[in-house]
Amino acid sequence: MAVPLFLLVFMAMVNVSAQMQPEWVYGRLYLDHAPVAVRMEKGMIVSVDRIDSLPEGDPGLIIAPGFVDNQVNGYAGVSFVFGGGDLTPEGILIATQALWKEGVTTYLPTLTTNDKSILIKNFGILASSIDNPVLRGSIPGFHLEGPFISPEDGYRGAHPLEFVRKPDWNEFLEYQQAANGRILQLTLAPEMEGALALIDSCRENNIVVALGHHNAPADVITQAIDRGARIATHLGNGAANTINRHRNPFWPQLADDRLMISIIGDGFHLLPEQIRVFWKVKGTPNTILTSDVTHFAGLHPGEYQTSEGVTIELTPEGMLRYPVQNVLYGSASPVSKGVGHVMKVTGCSLAEAVQMASTNPARLYHLHDRGEIRPGMRADLVLFRMDDFKVQVEKTLVRGVVVYEEDK
Ligand SMILES: [Zn+2]
Repeated sequence: MAVPLFLLVFMAMVNVSAQMQPEWVYGRLYLDHAPVAVRMEKGMIVSVDRIDSLPEGDPGLIIAPGFVDNQVNGYAGVSFVFGGGDLTPEGILIATQALWKEGVTTYLPTLTTNDKSILIKNFGILASSIDNPVLRGSIPGFHLEGPFISPEDGYRGAHPLEFVRKPDWNEFLEYQQAANGRILQLTLAPEMEGALALIDSCRENNIVVALGHHNAPADVITQAIDRGARIATHLGNGAANTINRHRNPFWPQLADDRLMISIIGDGFHLLPEQIRVFWKVKGTPNTILTSDVTHFAGLHPGEYQTSEGVTIELTPEGMLRYPVQNVLYGSASPVSKGVGHVMKVTGCSLAEAVQMASTNPARLYHLHDRGEIRPGMRADLVLFRMDDFKVQVEKTLVRGVVVYEEDK
């Protein structure tokens, strides 16, 4: 594919300026806050040296591996989900740049239950846009959430019933072909007819299977995990408001140590005590922070119209709500907010929060060159200060190139 002009200009901007490709970055390491000098060469980390003190005048920012978000439906007004031909490479770049601003250096654009032709079309646009190295650097692949989910109200969440379908490997292959083989994760409901066979096929093809928007009984959840399901998608959400106290999908997913979980850490989707319990049960190594952001994320607070003509409100606190019914309309907080929030409500360390927002997802998707700060890893770095459990990003680097710097 020919490289569009706007991307050529952008690539030139980030490549020619020596100032934007520093050789050294200084900061306080997220693991223990010790001053470090990170040396980079050709976009990779070549050394991480602990030093007695930071250079004079250095602001002493925390330095961490860039965040990895496995569930992004859109950002900064750009939706990956909608049909209608609005999705363009320019839009994908706008969303990506806005995510860099929040320290997210890798993310999986996520398509949800929709008309088959829209899924195929949008996967095609996403796949061809990452022919370009600037976008490919931050988008290793995609997440398909649906359409093979529960048709039950509540469990289905906001996914439209008319497009919910029975699990079908051949149909999945059509999406995977449109996505140029880059669907890395499929979220499905294991109790649907044909789901267990689909899990087998995904496992054989190295596609991570996630359980979500389902109401599966315990034995089916166990079978799904036996066959290779790896993670529960946004545990605690995508479920009915009223559940049976004994027989509900939460207990078996929490009880099985083989299953990781992702949680939405925006402060609105889960209560603090839910996050505390989930984290205590699963532990840091088996918990992933995700955002599940819609395209309203990254916009200014105010009222917006949805594609269905519904008025929704984005509050200054980052809550996206449907005022008429006073319910949430999705998430509008980047995963960086989850880092501070999970520390606040669980008491975990910054090192643990970063592990959940970067290291763990990088490992789950076999992105072996990111998610840690050590020689041999990509120089995907975020430098920030923490104010009252809030991550305030000042600078972001992708492959050693400064892609965002806060205006002073
Ligand atoms: Zn969902």
